[in-house]
Amino acid sequence: MPPASATTGSKTSRPRRGEGQWALGYREPLNKNEENKKNDDGLNVRQRIIDVYSKAGFDSIDPADLRGRFRWFGLYTQRAPGIDGGKTAVLEPEELDDRYFMMRIRIDGGQLSVAQLRTIAEISTDYARGTADITDRQNVQLHWVRIEDVPTIWEKLEAVGLSTTEACGDAPRVILGCPLAGIDENEVIDASEQIAQVYEDHIGSPEFSNLPRKFKTSISGCSSYCTNHEINDVAFAGVVGPDGTPGFDLFVGGGLSTNPMFAQRLGTFVRPDQVSEVWAGVTSVFRDYGYRRLRHRARIKFLVKDWGPEKFREVLEKEYLGYALPDGPAVELDPGTRRDHIGVHRQRDGRYYVGFAPKVGRAPGEMLARVAEIAETHGSDRIRTTADQKLVILDIDEDKIDSLVAALEGEDLRVRPSVFRRQTMACTGIEFCKLAIVETKDRAASLIDELERRLPDFPEPVTINLNGCPNSCARIQVADIGLKGQLVSDGEGNQVEGFQVHLGGGMGLNAAFGRKVRGLKTTADELPDYIERVLRRFLEQREDGEAFAT
Ligand code: SF4
Repeated sequence: MPPASATTGSKTSRPRRGEGQWALGYREPLNKNEENKKNDDGLNVRQRIIDVYSKAGFDSIDPADLRGRFRWFGLYTQRAPGIDGGKTAVLEPEELDDRYFMMRIRIDGGQLSVAQLRTIAEISTDYARGTADITDRQNVQLHWVRIEDVPTIWEKLEAVGLSTTEACGDAPRVILGCPLAGIDENEVIDASEQIAQVYEDHIGSPEFSNLPRKFKTSISGCSSYCTNHEINDVAFAGVVGPDGTPGFDLFVGGGLSTNPMFAQRLGTFVRPDQVSEVWAGVTSVFRDYGYRRLRHRARIKFLVKDWGPEKFREVLEKEYLGYALPDGPAVELDPGTRRDHIGVHRQRDGRYYVGFAPKVGRAPGEMLARVAEIAETHGSDRIRTTADQKLVILDIDEDKIDSLVAALEGEDLRVRPSVFRRQTMACTGIEFCKLAIVETKDRAASLIDELERRLPDFPEPVTINLNGCPNSCARIQVADIGLKGQLVSDGEGNQVEGFQVHLGGGMGLNAAFGRKVRGLKTTADELPDYIERVLRRFLEQREDGEAFAT
């Protein structure tokens, strides 16, 4: 709740009609989701899963828990097999439900030990039919999970310090962090401590378990800004402060989905020891002033857009922190930097890290078990997930690099991937996602194979991202070529799976959302031909030194 003494202009500004902002006195739920959250905190479902649902089975689950509160523990029902994308919008949610779950394991900062990775691999094999996907938020997602097995899975995860708490839901989700935190010689600041502190202080706390909508955090001192501060709800991006000591530049209000917005700088400098309380302040502003009437206008980005950064900062400082943050410098973005940490690179302690690419993030349990073994036999106990659906092994001695690279390549984990393997991402898609209209993962994998065959020496970095619906789980608006799944006409009057094309998106110095070119759609079958044409045309027409993104 906001402090009783809250007095800033925010309280006197024109109240928006029934946006459901708690701080303005609108406490009655204005939609079903808000009602569910008011009826019972999402965090309370854990005990019911352990005591009741896992014992009595799927049919015993209260629908309000099944389609609502289960998310607070990373559980969604997956899409029932065989329902085509044309039915997504017309069927009731229960008609799309399978009796199995997707389970999202949060990996804050992307940080895993060998034991943790091995545990995830075992759970995948024993309880999830071998499935595992690395997401672009550094999580691992399993599928085919049965409710009966959830308590055992939690026990195994918690025994190695992992959890699914608030991995989904209207809550603070996984905290992104640079996979190279603490080892990269170019990093601005090692933010591992701040990530751990925010996790310990606030994750799983009832104070923040009922936010207006999902809430995504990035805390990173990476010099290539690999955790994408531009598109997080709140982001702390490493910067050297006014007195020469490192700290953070604070951003709020980024997000993609159907109404993309880049985060805005508040212009403050946040000291490392202030991160946890400033995070709590920003999250409290969202909790209390965020819009709760319409789900599609509930993300913090809408509040930030309406208020602007100056007012947001004023409310944060006066009503929540009780002190003013100093002004600070802006992050310095380098136009040419790649953010994915792929390849073999030297650490600041003289050892090496090795980043490698599974195809479109797909890394089955058996593969993860092999990665754990390869890391261990080469002397490493630190594996990292990245925000690009990739993996990194840290702490490799120079004389073991060749052996490690060979072992990874033997598992089809490319340390020197083609540009297409390296920079193509896909969301879950119709295989498991109830919102999907088209298939994505297999299609993206075969697209990579086709492009590698047709354009083996394509010289430029080019990002190709595929989504299965208008949401943006695979960041289509910030890809060079973004592909939004939808039904399209095949020219003979049939509605078939296809994509709306967005061109020219990107992040960094020239951040821009891809332009949706009117009429630019392709059927899924024609996708490789279409992409090949676009890339060949670029090669023919580009000026000297011009990158694809420009
Ligand atoms: Fe599902 Fe759409 Fe997200 Fe893909 S983009 S995972 S289809 S909600």
